[in-house]
Amino acid sequence: MKRIIYFLIICILIATIILVLLLINKKPKIEKDNNVYMLDLSNYSLEQIKEYSLNNKLNLNIIEEYDDKVLKDNLISQSILPNTIIKENDNLEIVISKGIDYEKHKVNELGNIPVMMYHQIKDMKNEDTKYTGGNVDYDGYTRTTEAFRKDLDFYYQNGYRMIRLIDYVNGKIDVELGYSPLVLTFDDGLNEVKVLGLDENDNIIIDPNCALGILEEYKAKYPDFNVTATFFLNSTLFYSQKYNEKIINYMIDHGYDIGNHTLSHPNINKISTTETQKEVGRMYQILEQYIPNKYVNIVALPYGNPSSSNENFKYILNGVYNNKEYNTITTLRVSWEADYSPFNSKFDKKYIKRIRAYDNNGTNYDIEYNFKKLENNKYISDGNIDTVVIKEDKKNDVNTTLSVITYWKNLKLII
Ligand SMILES: [Zn+2]
Repeated sequence: MKRIIYFLIICILIATIILVLLLINKKPKIEKDNNVYMLDLSNYSLEQIKEYSLNNKLNLNIIEEYDDKVLKDNLISQSILPNTIIKENDNLEIVISKGIDYEKHKVNELGNIPVMMYHQIKDMKNEDTKYTGGNVDYDGYTRTTEAFRKDLDFYYQNGYRMIRLIDYVNGKIDVELGYSPLVLTFDDGLNEVKVLGLDENDNIIIDPNCALGILEEYKAKYPDFNVTATFFLNSTLFYSQKYNEKIINYMIDHGYDIGNHTLSHPNINKISTTETQKEVGRMYQILEQYIPNKYVNIVALPYGNPSSSNENFKYILNGVYNNKEYNTITTLRVSWEADYSPFNSKFDKKYIKRIRAYDNNGTNYDIEYNFKKLENNKYISDGNIDTVVIKEDKKNDVNTTLSVITYWKNLKLII
């Protein structure tokens, strides 16, 4: 009997010990982790990274590389990934950004910008005209639809991206890194927009083969082309009593601009100062009726007249008509070449040059001639609207309130 009792007591003791051991094991293990883990260094400055490496006795190796996306002095990569265990004498290699390689992209924000002057676009093939290339008249003021499409392809394929004229004037050049700005303008409102009718919602249906239709086609064809243009109108607007109001509003709603080409397209050299104010002031008032505060205060000078030294010129910039004052930011002349960057001290925003968009076998300041010439000195963007990037030796030519970054072309030794 005693044996049995002893046996039971031993059994109970063993069971108790097992139970206690089990309970001890169930308690969470408090283990001290002496490991050091790698940090994510992406928000650290170079000085902080150096200090961190020193404290953890890492062998730090810094590599500098150009990078279009990572800002200068920021981390591009680290050889030891975050949360990896590190120990003394580990090799840590970090790559730090030198910023954009301006030289590689040939960035030049003091380069020239082409402002193209178009008029009518006729739905024709080049072979159907008796004039050079896509010219429909002797001077090439009217172009064929075939030529206009070729022009647009040419601009796009040669690295040009459109900006609004008003943005050019105000120095807001929003163009991707390595690309060049281009401005399109149309004068007179004649044969630029053709309306085929109205759809079920009373919206205008635009002929795909008019200037506006082709511009809309290119918006879809090249989404990064940023298609836009400024149309300069007389009192006749788009020569469509039925649809003028709808067209002009369509344009504003679709990212185009409307400017002033005077009331009746006179030669301003030959009229009085009072008539000049009527021509400019009354036209602003017509635009105000159709698109209040949505037009641009820019005048495309009819026939390119007057010159800025003419006495009437100041009445284009500033005057009064019907007791209402007007102010013009910019006038556009007829010219033969691209104008300066808005950041160039020689830029005169009140009197801007335009290139006549026409063909003349690469001579006499036609499109081909001008774009060949631009290859030597075109504006090439740094991709940042808030900075002006120029070559070091051009820093005396710059005039801007934006921050200026200069870089120096690496000199290559010739042995
Ligand atoms: Zn005109």
